[in-house]
Amino acid sequence: MNARADLPGLAGPGATEHTDIAIIGSGFAGLGMAIRLRQSGEQDFLIFEKAGSVGGTWRDNHYPGCACDVQSHLYSFSFAPNPGWSRMFSPQPEIRAYLEDCTDRFALRPNLRLNHELRHAAWDEPAGGWRLEMADGKVVRARVLVSGMGGLSRPSYPDIPGLDSFEGECFHSQHWNHAYALQGKRVAVIGTGASAIQFVPQIAPKVAQLDLYQRTPPWIMPKPDREVSATEQWLFRRLPFTQKLVRTGIYWMLESRVLGFVAHPKLMKVVERIARRHLARQVRNPQLRATLTPDYTIGCKRVLISNDYYPALARSNVDVVTTGISRVERDAVILRSGSRRPVDCIILGTGFHATDPLPRGVIAGRDGVDLLDAWGDGAQAYLGTTVAGFPNLFFVVGPNTGLGHSSMVFMIESQVAYILDALRRMRREGVQAVEVREPVQRAFNEGLQGKLGHAIWSAGGCASWYIDPRSGRNTTLWPGFTWQFRRATASFRMTDYEIWPVRMPQPYESADVPEIATAAGA
Ligand code: NAP
Repeated sequence: MNARADLPGLAGPGATEHTDIAIIGSGFAGLGMAIRLRQSGEQDFLIFEKAGSVGGTWRDNHYPGCACDVQSHLYSFSFAPNPGWSRMFSPQPEIRAYLEDCTDRFALRPNLRLNHELRHAAWDEPAGGWRLEMADGKVVRARVLVSGMGGLSRPSYPDIPGLDSFEGECFHSQHWNHAYALQGKRVAVIGTGASAIQFVPQIAPKVAQLDLYQRTPPWIMPKPDREVSATEQWLFRRLPFTQKLVRTGIYWMLESRVLGFVAHPKLMKVVERIARRHLARQVRNPQLRATLTPDYTIGCKRVLISNDYYPALARSNVDVVTTGISRVERDAVILRSGSRRPVDCIILGTGFHATDPLPRGVIAGRDGVDLLDAWGDGAQAYLGTTVAGFPNLFFVVGPNTGLGHSSMVFMIESQVAYILDALRRMRREGVQAVEVREPVQRAFNEGLQGKLGHAIWSAGGCASWYIDPRSGRNTTLWPGFTWQFRRATASFRMTDYEIWPVRMPQPYESADVPEIATAAGA
């Protein structure tokens, strides 16, 4: 461990800790960065995690039925395969356990600072590095700051009059209250997104009455889920290339969806037909079927997958309510029609602040400029990773790196490789700090927005969290094949950056990192 502390006892208020690379967050992004640093021989890095354990979104979201909607063989690190996945789409506890296991497997515990919530990070020009202040007052000095804070970590609460005055139980899907027994209760669920469609089928059989408030119906496809057999697990363990083959097959299958999303939106008609048939097969009541049929192009919002959502809605104790909510009273939801629906519990499946992943006041760059001011008309970065005005700040899962069709872990690994290459080149060329040139960032984003303008997310006739409400720009999604992103981030071009020569001795020398697989190897 090369981290240095000014005061004895590394943690605690009043202490200053020094590290070359500070990583914020310990989800797939933060851990992926840390693992690759460790594999490259790097010692001088620390991971700061606000919670008491690792896992990011897979620690925070633990609602009933929480699972990944991307196949686990692909939704996992290419350099840490898990032959033991129990299902094609693993449930949340297994994914969380996988991340805990990776933390041990790659000996990251000594580099981990749990219960360290970043309050403020400021670029310190004279020092040529970042000054981080934690919620407990502790200060950390780091040359490089890597944000692995994720795009979907801040819950979004609906602005419904009277919600605060509700005297029953109320929680957001991310803050599920497992201590509250839903058995026999009258429950209102607000929202019909990716989270709600997973927990509604779990709670519907338990509750006395479930009112599902739907503003926009999602398109839902069948979920090709199944158990992974003991024979398959044995094979993956004994002959790891077999799991790699499965991974590669899934990768290309998912990648083919881009053709419909971006290149030929008309292809989505075929997908839409499958979704309509799925709905028709699972919902016999024509009125309910009409209520659940979207009126926008499939793919415009995230396409969801489920085999048990529609059957849950067909239950006699479930009502899909499409009349908007006017207000909430002490013990009831009042509809715009004036009708009153008494409830014991309200569950908010209302999503996250995707286009505003960070609150104001957390990151200040050169000249003290707040990141949110730099992003006045929506988040943007170069290659989703670096931002003009913010030297030595690297985002993993930054602007326009989200996907509607495949595994975010693939994108994370691409960004991590790019950052490693940056660090390697900086060391080799005696560079203390890099900052992307503004014209480079601008040209990149103009190209990106040009592509996004024609894509289904902008032209599909829907409102979604992909689009920044201020500018109308899509600031969240990568508009193309993931291998194109991997190719774009394959090597760090110093000419795209302003550079500051070295001021401090470099505290480490690292070995070459083994290459991450190319797209074909996924
Ligand atoms: P979401 O997809 O953003 O859905 C939020 C839902 O709440 C939508 O149905 C939305 O309606 C509704 N809503 C929001 N504000 C409302 C209001 N004021 N009044 C009434 N309805 C309101 O959120 P999410 O389901 O939590 O999922 C967010 C993202 O997390 C997903 O898209 C996905 O990327 C990720 N996720 C992934 C998985 C996975 O398996 N990998 C699972 C869960 C979540 P409108 O559609 O009309 O806006």
